[in-house]
Amino acid sequence: MPRRRIQVRGVVQGVGFRPAVYRLAHAQGLSGCVWNHAEGVTIEVQGSAVAVSAFEQALQSGIPPPARVQALATQDMDEIPGETGFRILASGAGTEMRPVVPPDLAVCEACAAEMDTLGERRHRYPFTNCTRCGPRYTIIESLPYDRPQTAMKAFPLCPDCAREYRDPTDRRFHAQPVACPACGPRLTLRHADGSARAEGEAALQAASVALRAGAVLALKGLGGYQLLVDATSDEAVRRLRSRKRREDKPLAVMFPDLAHLLQACEASAEETVWLTSPEAPILLLRRSEAGAVVEAVAPGNPLLGAFLPYTPLHRLLLTDVDRPLVCTSGNLSDEPMAFEDEEALGRLGGLADLFLTHDRPILRPVDDSVLRVDGDGPTLLRRARGFAPLAVPLALKGPCVLALGAHQKNTIALLKGGELIMSQHLGDLTSPDGADLLARTVEDLLAFFGARPERLACDLHPDYASTSLAERLAAEWEIPLVRVQHHHAHGAACAAERGLKGPVLALAWDGTGLGIDGTLWGGEALRIEGSTFERVGHLRPFPLPGGEAAVREPRRSACGLLWATRGEAAPPPDLAAAFDGPDWALLQAMLAKGLHSPVTSSIGRLFDAVAALVGLQARRGFEGQAAMALEFAAGERAASPYPWEIKEGIADPTLLVEAVLSDLAAGREAAFVAARFHAALADLALAWARLGGLADVVLSGGCFQNALLTARVRARLSGAGFRVHRHHLFPPNDGSISLGQAAVALLEP
Ligand code: ZN
Ligand code: ZN
Ligand code: FE
Repeated sequence: MPRRRIQVRGVVQGVGFRPAVYRLAHAQGLSGCVWNHAEGVTIEVQGSAVAVSAFEQALQSGIPPPARVQALATQDMDEIPGETGFRILASGAGTEMRPVVPPDLAVCEACAAEMDTLGERRHRYPFTNCTRCGPRYTIIESLPYDRPQTAMKAFPLCPDCAREYRDPTDRRFHAQPVACPACGPRLTLRHADGSARAEGEAALQAASVALRAGAVLALKGLGGYQLLVDATSDEAVRRLRSRKRREDKPLAVMFPDLAHLLQACEASAEETVWLTSPEAPILLLRRSEAGAVVEAVAPGNPLLGAFLPYTPLHRLLLTDVDRPLVCTSGNLSDEPMAFEDEEALGRLGGLADLFLTHDRPILRPVDDSVLRVDGDGPTLLRRARGFAPLAVPLALKGPCVLALGAHQKNTIALLKGGELIMSQHLGDLTSPDGADLLARTVEDLLAFFGARPERLACDLHPDYASTSLAERLAAEWEIPLVRVQHHHAHGAACAAERGLKGPVLALAWDGTGLGIDGTLWGGEALRIEGSTFERVGHLRPFPLPGGEAAVREPRRSACGLLWATRGEAAPPPDLAAAFDGPDWALLQAMLAKGLHSPVTSSIGRLFDAVAALVGLQARRGFEGQAAMALEFAAGERAASPYPWEIKEGIADPTLLVEAVLSDLAAGREAAFVAARFHAALADLALAWARLGGLADVVLSGGCFQNALLTARVRARLSGAGFRVHRHHLFPPNDGSISLGQAAVALLEP
């Protein structure tokens, strides 16, 4: 009787793969065993030749997601006479097991169907899950991933759940978070003062009635508290905005189902696959005219962040309310999301009218992921739920490195044994809570993956909370600390993600990061090789009166750019409206004296300046808002580029500024200027690529969140024969800085 050993790699641990293998082997009447180990999963099967080959076929096609089989290698083995039954062996089976912390997964179809069926014991139960779906990373205390080491330890299994858990033919076989109304977590609806108002089904129904009446609901979701409000009510959305102190920044909208979503947005086949995937990220989709979602959700924005319910609780609530709901993380701007009950009541008490909570603790905050799909595939803009902390194989071998990332959109990265483990998006580190979250996440990841870093990496900036922590840890652990320049890290991140070994030219365009000369960089062309870089080109620096204040006030960038290119002058007509009273004179005086006016080569700030010059977004806003306004204004129109003067790699924007002003004086509209500006940046990219003289060009930095800019630059460069690479799996923004730092530190001799 033939016996075969099959080595399987891919997403095969912590996703119900072994039970699925058990069921396939059982169906074919095969004996044998399956076990997890450092390299993946190994299976041995024994039986008739027909059954073995049917099993092998089923392994390729019959494994349910989220498991994904990527590589199979098989070999013939000697028969084990008299073997009966198929067994799941303990993890490791003699070899060292590579730790796997599974990510959280959206509710599967089987669980959804069960919840919808009257008479099922999990009918309308908001914590239904199985081996294919449910909470993972957000409820795991420590490894191995077993119920006593999860937030479910306080919920002993009832006899019915215990039977499912032990039955290898059940889809809840070894599902650690398994629960039902008899034994699992329960809902409570609370008033803003914390007092209980309703429990269970009544809590759910009262919450949906309140949402329909325009209330702001704080919902204890999967990875933290969220704020929900009726997305079809202008008044309700404005109430949420004013309480959350978030004026214009787009809010994400959750739809009851795909049909509702498609009434409000357009989604391609690829986008639909993502929307309904186990990762279930927020997708940036084009809004359609007819949708009922009010403009105030994303003012002036042709895109909408849209997603589908990913927990049973969201699903029940959205179905009951039967209309799209704004679903945004529960925090004040720039603070981390609240995820502990007491803390949430305290912090969100003034924001929410009601709290829909439950008694399953959330062990770590995990935000929703954000993804965009364009011409050449997906771009993750925020990597969190569904993706973190899955290890990604990278062609980088060397010592174990821990990198602590940037200051905003922070993530941390652990490089170990040729794999990259990136934390979930941690966000802004400015608040004490943000810095605290960073320190806890470091402990968390190291413990989970049993890692002892041999090197640490951080940004050059001395004032980042991530830098201070890296300095402290390097001293404590007595290991070297590698300080990596911000844009070097951007370029190295993209090269590492795309597996590029040789030298690359990196176009690293973003807001700002500290350069090696002490000025603020952000419009850089860097030749990167190994752990070193050379600055091939950059924007000619211009001053930012008020420094950081310019991030939220694009008019300051415009004022500084005009000062650098034309000297002291009155504001041009389209900009004058943004300067009432003595503001213009004050900023000019600051510039003249060089007071608090750091210089920058940032293309992000150049975007801000041009947006302000054409009268878009001059006064205030969220970071990137002005650039987005220019992107959306430009649309798809073709336009001739503005001119540059480039000497020895330094791009002087004087001609560009003059041309913008003369277009405006000639009555040209913002859209026309915006299109010419994007074309000019594509020209600049090509000029720098030629100067770099390398075949491979990587695009990284926050500016490449702009889909139009990315498309224009790619087209221009590939048209001239360059191979252009951009981020797909990791964000182009500062979310990837930790990856770049880790790659540079690893390559350091
Ligand atoms: Zn399920
Ligand atoms: Zn139960
Ligand atoms: Fe950056």
